[in-house]
Amino acid sequence: MNLAVFVIDMINDFVYEKFRNERAIKIIPNIKKILDKAREKNVPIIYLQDCHLKGDPEESLWGPHALSNTKGSEIITELKPHKKDYIILKRTYSGFYKTDLDLLLKKLEVDSVILLGVSTDICVQNNASDLFYRGFNIYVVKDGTASINEENHEVALNYMKNIFNVKIIDSEEAIKLLEEVK
Ligand SMILES: [Zn+2]
Repeated sequence: MNLAVFVIDMINDFVYEKFRNERAIKIIPNIKKILDKAREKNVPIIYLQDCHLKGDPEESLWGPHALSNTKGSEIITELKPHKKDYIILKRTYSGFYKTDLDLLLKKLEVDSVILLGVSTDICVQNNASDLFYRGFNIYVVKDGTASINEENHEVALNYMKNIFNVKIIDSEEAIKLLEEVK
């Protein structure tokens, strides 16, 4: 198994600002612990960062958010990327749409991905679908992801499990998985 970790949309607008989310704030320590272990094991960390231009299709649903070159689109300081980490800027839910993510995963020879971040039912789920189409093993950390409410979170976890063959794990299990990396 060749692992990578995705940190999805842990940006100011989705944690503290425009769509402030207490549930997203609560998962920060769990994400931090998993990233520490991944770094210790040299497992690549890939940040997917919402970064919109004005008029992007999502704006009709959510209004302007995570605009390029604003504080809203910046990754929260607690989870600031390190030099060795990768950042994929994205303009829709999926980190694969019109980005270099496919090439990056190929170059890193990744076959399995651990998903962290927000929102479980939107960007996490849309990345799980794109990973499934491409044949990756997918792990979603239930206490390392969050939605705006518990129901959306649970429904999305079940959907990903049933439809994209995602393994739902907790942060302790994610750390165990990373510990097994040679
Ligand atoms: Zn967006």
